[in-house]
Amino acid sequence: MNDEAVLLTLIDIFGKNAVLFDTESRNKYGIDYTQYYSPDPVAVVFPKNEEQLVSLVQLANKLSLKLVPSGGRTGYSGGAIAAFKEIVVSFEKMNKILSFCEEDRSVRCQPGLITKELQEFAKTKDLFYPVDFASSGSSQIGGNIATNAGGIKVIRYGLTRNWVTGLRVVTGNGEILELNNGLIKNATGYDFLNLFIGSEGTLGFITEATIKLIEEPLPQKVVLFSLNQKNHLLNILNKCRTLRYLSAFELFSDKALQIVLKEQSLTMPFSKSAPFYVLLEFDSTQENETLLFDVLESSLSSQSIGDVIISDSIEKANNLWKFRESISLSLRKYIPYKYDISVVPSRIIQFMSEVDGFLEKENQEIDVIWFGHVGDGNLHLNILKPKTMEKEKFFTYCDKISTSIYELVKKYSGSISAEHGIGLLKKPFLSYSKSDTEIAYMKLIKKLFDENNVMNPLKLV
Ligand SMILES: Cc1cc2nc3c(=O)[nH]c(=O)nc-3n(C[C@H](O)[C@H](O)[C@H](O)COP(=O)(O)OP(=O)(O)OC[C@H]3O[C@@H](n4cnc5c(N)ncnc54)[C@H](O)[C@@H]3O)c2cc1C
Repeated sequence: MNDEAVLLTLIDIFGKNAVLFDTESRNKYGIDYTQYYSPDPVAVVFPKNEEQLVSLVQLANKLSLKLVPSGGRTGYSGGAIAAFKEIVVSFEKMNKILSFCEEDRSVRCQPGLITKELQEFAKTKDLFYPVDFASSGSSQIGGNIATNAGGIKVIRYGLTRNWVTGLRVVTGNGEILELNNGLIKNATGYDFLNLFIGSEGTLGFITEATIKLIEEPLPQKVVLFSLNQKNHLLNILNKCRTLRYLSAFELFSDKALQIVLKEQSLTMPFSKSAPFYVLLEFDSTQENETLLFDVLESSLSSQSIGDVIISDSIEKANNLWKFRESISLSLRKYIPYKYDISVVPSRIIQFMSEVDGFLEKENQEIDVIWFGHVGDGNLHLNILKPKTMEKEKFFTYCDKISTSIYELVKKYSGSISAEHGIGLLKKPFLSYSKSDTEIAYMKLIKKLFDENNVMNPLKLV
């Protein structure tokens, strides 16, 4: 079948208005938040139901078409990129909340629901959906589930995986599976629900999700302080863990802060700069305030920390978060090469020092920006493109030095992807975190659910 005949069949399945193939739409929907690949999909389709997806998958199997599931396209691993004549399947039109059950405290929703809308819906029921990050205004629940997204509150609430109790999926073979039915407990062998969570659209389409909610936390207190030496970080983290309950423990470097101040036109919050800053959030209670003052007092007297700012209103808390939450967006203009590494928290400082040592020896011209969810051992290392270097040359150069950085990740028994996924970008490096045997099993699992490799080929495995 030629391209034109394929497009006509797609129009048959989805209807005329739900198939786009103009250049602007193909460019818009063929990319995610990464800046490495140029989009080149054949078309973009907008399913409204599972039946259409089953028909599409059957067609893809018959004609060897390649399908790329696409959520809010905020991903950082190239998982939603369509650069090789694929069909992009956007979930923009499957974006509804289907039902809410008060007794189960659960929501059934379509995959295209925007993360923030779920958070806001939960609030209307005096409940809380705790997965949160700077992209939650654009990312979709389907994309969050497919990447097992983390974010700023993992230290308290865990990853997306912890909140999904049911999924409906259309596999790459075209079957519909109903997984786990919203159950909290289900000990019936292999766990397909959790297999699909984090599978990056390589096994099938997520077409519906059941998400559990939790009671709203107490009002939160946010504290931002400057850290004079990173070597004191773990000691402070340890002490802060006594707070009931610590919801966030984030680190960022002065270089990160300076870029945020410039790009967001914000004023320096501290009287003087320090190498690093830490932001923490916890329940605002009298008991916690006493604990916090003990931690701050001992850290100030040992000169581990410098200036401290404590929120006394929601507005002030939000303003403090801006210094941390604007980092990713502020860096975008500087064309960063992004790493999303995790090591166990106890080894984070040693790991950072080894990477810094390596990068300093390797190239003193490059700007290295550290930030991340350090309470979870998750570091977002960003290397910025030098102004004088071409983009392609820069990415090739970073791919080359990545092998040394990932050797260090391996040495520390860490992971090359903590929360963004492997996608297209990190696929060449998967073996630094997974053994040959594991990768072979991953390929077998892929083949089981997607025999002809129609689902997001070239990604993950
Ligand atoms: C400013 C900023 C801050 C961020 N902060 C964080 C953070 O703190 N923590 C974090 O984890 N991530 C973060 N991210 C990355 C990103 O937001 C998450 O990975 C998010 O989960 C991606 O969701 P999405 O809907 O945009 O998915 P997309 O980027 O569209 O897709 C991601 C993957 O999911 C697949 N997919 C999408 N929908 C479906 C579906 N219905 N069925 C099957 N597969 C599907 C795609 O094929 C792709 O492989 C950040 C991104 C930005 C831009």
